[in-house]
Amino acid sequence: MLVKDAEEIWGEFVDLLQKKCSLAEFQNWIAPIHFVPSNDSDIVLEVPNVFVQDYLLSNYRHELISFFPLNSKGDPLIRFIIKEPKREEKVIEPVIQEEKKESDDRYEIKLNIGYTFQHFIEGPSNQFVKSAAVGVALRPGKSYNPLFIHGGVGLGKTHLLHSIGHYVKEKHKKIKVQCITTEQFINDLVDSLRNKSVDQMKRFYRNLDILLVDDIQFLQSRLNFEEEFCNTFEALINQNKQVVITSDKPPSALKLSERLIARMEWGLVANIGIPDLETRVAILQYKAERKGLKIPQKVAFFIAEHIFNNVRQLEGAINRLSAYCGLIQTEVTQEIVETTLSELFQYVPQKKVTVESILKSVSSMFNVRVQDLRGSTRKKEVAFPRQVAMYLAKELINESLMKLASSFGGKTHSTLLHSWNKIKKQLETDETLRRQIQMTKQNLES
Ligand code: ADP
Ligand code: MG
Repeated sequence: MLVKDAEEIWGEFVDLLQKKCSLAEFQNWIAPIHFVPSNDSDIVLEVPNVFVQDYLLSNYRHELISFFPLNSKGDPLIRFIIKEPKREEKVIEPVIQEEKKESDDRYEIKLNIGYTFQHFIEGPSNQFVKSAAVGVALRPGKSYNPLFIHGGVGLGKTHLLHSIGHYVKEKHKKIKVQCITTEQFINDLVDSLRNKSVDQMKRFYRNLDILLVDDIQFLQSRLNFEEEFCNTFEALINQNKQVVITSDKPPSALKLSERLIARMEWGLVANIGIPDLETRVAILQYKAERKGLKIPQKVAFFIAEHIFNNVRQLEGAINRLSAYCGLIQTEVTQEIVETTLSELFQYVPQKKVTVESILKSVSSMFNVRVQDLRGSTRKKEVAFPRQVAMYLAKELINESLMKLASSFGGKTHSTLLHSWNKIKKQLETDETLRRQIQMTKQNLES
């Protein structure tokens, strides 16, 4: 693409975002991104840090996809470069003004506008941790202190942390709250050491009423910083100031000092788990609705069955679908989902499935005996599960029909084929059967 074109498109893109987001969001997250003229086929954007880059990619993927050329995977052709801090300029600028300006934006709380309690969908895997977070937001320093939230990637830890921040900012205006990533804390400390303003930084953090710290695992093996963090943390806790920490592991699994681990375990340690199928469907439908995308319930289940351990990927799926269906003006169907999302789908490494294991699984799902499944009775309560077992055998085992059929107590290959056809047809309309087969498969793979 010509540099001129690329720059114009970027300008139009920024105009669009300016209309879409709040002033604060725009200033915090979009304005700091700069277009860099280049002769590459990629668009080159300069960002002050990776957070701004992540923010753009995760919140405006749909818009990026519709504005910029895409690579073969369907991702926008954008290359990010992180801005180098311009030390020389700092020296030239008037010192007082510079210091004031820096301390202002350095300590301004930055929260993702979408990460509020209202937009957080509850289910059995996150109910407990959400109510703990709400408890902290309602009565900071008085309920659980510290609150330590841990769980895998993309399960809503940052979302809950920012939700506390939003709530407190709105409801308790006088309370001083800061939300930082551990990386930011470390960067702050490095900057303060360089600018000889460590005391100012310490004062700032120790005067807070609430400190929200994201991704504490990044403090591991950063010995020098750990001590300063630990001091800040203790200073706050000792004054009953609220601290909330998120991490990808529980405190005891972190490679941090015993002192810090013990402090983190003082309050409430809450795990945020993988949402179950129904919750994943609810999240999917909620996010789709907000994008104006209609997904039939059956298709939503299909997506949620294949993307199961990361909510962020569910969002990615919605963005991709919404871009695709928006472009070619079509409804969401299972076929479209299969073609546009297949690379996001997760497949559990399968255990070796045998006729034996299928028979066992089917026998417990339908409450019939394995020997009856192998036998020849035509009673419906046995014949039907037998057909299901044959269907699964043909679907899951890569063997000749003849061999498979003979493992069913010497049936013929045409019996097996007939069963497979019958069940396959019934699956198109029978939701209960679909769920039964899904559960049997899960049972086989677990
Ligand atoms: P983590 O910090 O655990 O890696 P995030 O908080 O960044 O995960 O969540 C990833 C994405 O998934 C975010 O966009 C967030 O809004 C969304 N998300 C996670 N859990 C939920 C939920 N229960 N309801 C709605 N959105 C969720
Ligand atoms: Mg996070």
